[in-house]
Formats: sequence, C-alpha cells, structure tokens
Amino acid sequence: MLQIEEMRLIKTVKELKTILAAATGSVGLVPTMGAIHQGHVALLTKARSDCGTVVASIFVNPHQFNIKNDYLNYPKNLSTDLEIMENSGVDIVFKPNIEEIYPNSFTTTVNVKSLSDRLEGAFRPGHLDSVATIVIKLLNICQPNFVYFGQKDIQQLLMIKRMIIDLNIQTNLVSIDTVRDKDGLALSSRNNHLTEAQKQSALGLYSSLKSASNLSRNGEKSANKIKSEMEQILLSHNLDIDYLAICDSETLDEVTYINGAALAVIAAYCGNIRLIDNMLI
Ligand code: AMP
Repeated sequence: MLQIEEMRLIKTVKELKTILAAATGSVGLVPTMGAIHQGHVALLTKARSDCGTVVASIFVNPHQFNIKNDYLNYPKNLSTDLEIMENSGVDIVFKPNIEEIYPNSFTTTVNVKSLSDRLEGAFRPGHLDSVATIVIKLLNICQPNFVYFGQKDIQQLLMIKRMIIDLNIQTNLVSIDTVRDKDGLALSSRNNHLTEAQKQSALGLYSSLKSASNLSRNGEKSANKIKSEMEQILLSHNLDIDYLAICDSETLDEVTYINGAALAVIAAYCGNIRLIDNMLI
C-alpha cells in the first residue's frame, strides 16, 4: 500500500508515474469527468475496498463531445469534487490539463468496431471512439490492477471490456450497478441542468425500463411489443427519443425475441438535456 496521509492532486503524467512506482499492493483507477455524484462515489467506495491505492481521474475529454456547448457547459465543481473524493478515501486525484493529454502531435484514435458505431455511436458519431482513446491512455498512464466503470453507461462499459480483451491490456475491469435517486432517476452529472419539472419528465426513462422489465418477467417475448409500450411511456412524459432498443447484453445486437436476458437501452432528450439509461430485462 502507498503511504499517503492526505489525498494528493496530481496534474502531470510524470508525477503520477513516479508516485505509482512507489505503490505496493493493487492500484485501482476510477476515471471520471468530475461533477461527482453518488454514482461516482459508489465506484470510489468499491475501489477503496478492493485496492491498496485508489486513483481517481478528472478529465472532461473535449474530443468526446459532439456539441461544443455541451462541452463548455459540462458541470464543473472542483472543490466539491475534491472534498467528496477525499471523503471517499481516494489517495490520488489525477487532473491533467488538455495539453498534457493531447499534445499538438496527437493523431491516434481507437475504434472498437461494431460496439462503438451503433446506438450512441450512431447518434453521436465518434463519441465512443474518443472515449475508447482517452480510456486506453488513462490505462497506459496509470497501469492499474483494477479499473472501475458504471453500468449506467452500458455501451461504454461493453466497449471497454472488449477493448481490454482485444488489446491484451493488463487490468481487471470491475463494474457496478446504476445508482438511482429515490424515484428511480439514474444519477448523472447532466441532471444538474434539469429543472424540477424536467426531473419529473425524466422519470419516464425509468418507468419505461421498469415496464419493459415487468413485461419480460411476465413472459412477453416480443421486443416490438415491449418497445411499443416503452415508447408510449416515454412520449407521455414529453421525452424526445433518440433511440430505444432491446439488445443482446454483450454484443448489443438488437433482438426480435427475448431469449434469456436482454438489455433495454434508451437515449432521449428532456428539453435540451440528453439522458441515457438501460436495464437488464
Ligand atoms: P462520467 O463522470 O459521467 O464520465 O462517469 C464516470 C463513471 O461513473 C463512469 O464509469 C460512469 O458509468 C459512472 N457513472 C455515472 N453515473 C453513474 C450512476 N448513476 N451509477 C453508477 N455509475 C455511474
């Protein structure tokens, strides 16, 4: 275990590598974009219980935003983030600036074929390639024994799982369930932008996923029937649907009939805030 009395804030790759070279025991990495909420805390807590040294990164990756304003308006609250991270037992916060991660000469992009081009990839072209690229960079910089991701971003999780296997990356991927508020709304940094009325509307995502799960549990096998029920619920909550799909829970291939576990995935706009959610049904 690394003997760190106080959480350290590190900005350069060189400094992070030097500190981690002195760490014994396992290193856990929790990549985040900041605006820390209880979903992130669940990841940090899991990393804390598994690992000798916990590194949390905060990096709002400009390349993964398709809309410039979405990037510019991404919620930021460093002092609160640091306080929550410290209280969650984080040893090192890695918060590089953009030039540290993307020097002028940077040209490489990682593409996890098929897993990154559909669903989110179809509506946000290049988004998941940029996520894969920043994640592999963070993994190479930190070389953690364990890396932690949430099932809230299920396509991202499945893509990274595939990338780690395909590229022989020496780490263990750990995932945690989606953390929700008491009404079922999946926690997300973007919820900060929702008005109270929009929060009510956003509950339509959870309602439609729950209804899919209930239908499936009661024996409904037709993906179309389930999707049509989900669509009704989303529309009745004034949500503007980007996609709604019932998929294989590993490949994300759309299924027609549910045979065993399937994944219901949704992306929808609540006003101008884009929300995603999913559930195993
Ligand atoms: P982000 O800061 O949005 O990039 O998210 C950092 C990590 O937190 C990712 O692995 C997300 O999947 C995870 N995460 C975000 N929201 C939740 C949530 N509500 N429950 C669990 N994990 C989450």
